[in-house]
Amino acid sequence: MPQLSPVLKQATPVVATRGEGMYLYDADDRRHLDFTSGVGVTSTGHCHPRVVEAVRQQAGQLIHGQYTTVLHNQLLQLTERLGDVLPPGLDSLFFLNSGSEAVEAALRLARHATGRQNVIVFDGGFHGRTMGAASLTTAGTRFRAGIGPLMPGVAVAPFPSAFRLGMSKEEAVEYALRGLDRVLATVTAPAETAAMFVEPVLGEGGYIPAPAAFLAGLRERADRHGILLVLDEVQTGFGRTGRFWAHQHSAGVVPDVVITAKGLASGFPLSAIAAPTELMAKAWPGSQGGTYGGNAVACAAALATLDVIRDERLVANAAEQGARLLEGLRKVASEFPVIADVRGLGLMAGSEFCLPDGSPDPLTAQRAQRAAAERGLLLLPCGEHGNIIRMIPALVVKAAQIDEALTLWSAAVSAAAE
Ligand code: PMP
Repeated sequence: MPQLSPVLKQATPVVATRGEGMYLYDADDRRHLDFTSGVGVTSTGHCHPRVVEAVRQQAGQLIHGQYTTVLHNQLLQLTERLGDVLPPGLDSLFFLNSGSEAVEAALRLARHATGRQNVIVFDGGFHGRTMGAASLTTAGTRFRAGIGPLMPGVAVAPFPSAFRLGMSKEEAVEYALRGLDRVLATVTAPAETAAMFVEPVLGEGGYIPAPAAFLAGLRERADRHGILLVLDEVQTGFGRTGRFWAHQHSAGVVPDVVITAKGLASGFPLSAIAAPTELMAKAWPGSQGGTYGGNAVACAAALATLDVIRDERLVANAAEQGARLLEGLRKVASEFPVIADVRGLGLMAGSEFCLPDGSPDPLTAQRAQRAAAERGLLLLPCGEHGNIIRMIPALVVKAAQIDEALTLWSAAVSAAAE
């Protein structure tokens, strides 16, 4: 009998049979509080009734209106509706299926639009697993080792990871921007550099928010050198951090290209890149494409997602519940010295486990994650050592569920720290 490939690595042993709101249920009808949201995808919770209804209706009307062959209403409506939420000036959209594909599309666009080849990425960034996206990824050698040679022309500049660098945020920003200037002076000349790809909150790399001054520094250098600033908001976008886009925490920073996926369609495969029309027009028609991009059912799910985010005020909820979560996690950390740092933005929160000498402690982190799963709380690790446990609940999370998760977390950390 065929079996699932052993290359599949799973964070929990749960076999889910159904999902409802903040909970997943298994075959024994055991309830699991889901603080993973399918890695930040099910933004409106599992099977939100409005998303389900929109999908049902659309599936009965048109499932696949292949977008390089025919246009369909859902694609046109979604394009128009995204105008309400996109950063100013980013009025041209191209749809794909996954985050990695959208990263590839942004890479293509950056090279086409500038006629330059090189790109700069930031230490610890994750941009996906396809070859181009993996070449931009420095969140851990597990994403790169053994698959090379990877794409040339990628230079890595420092990310202001204050905790890891043992610096204040201000010092870390200064250090990182100086490092970027050095990369531009010694590795890739501005005239050869098409784009900088950056996550406004480092995701897989360890849940580290980029300070506003850092993103402002990137914007300034991008303008000065004619380099495109590409923000990978695959994990951080769509309300996740308590603003619609995470970069909106950094006043005045507007990207040249934004990449979105995950939370966009509440679980249906859909991603997009957005840029000013003038920039998109520098690539030729047909230079981007794909069989399934902008699938009609996925677009219907995205339209319903936008309605739910607006009507249920989910961006404000993410800010409010995120603050509650961070405060609770800090309290747990204050009781258990195995947690050396707690950080986050909105509903992206991480607890970093370290040994007394300050080195990463993935073993205790993994024990805490497993102990949480045994108690019915699903969590994911991140960081190159896997010693950061992250919480990414759906944006519909309520205060009572934050408190429920914190109670389970405290018990799990206590068990792991024994
Ligand atoms: N960029 C970021 C910031 C991500 O977090 C991810 C997925 N974790 C990706 C890109 C890749 O997305 P996908 O897995 O949908 O290809």
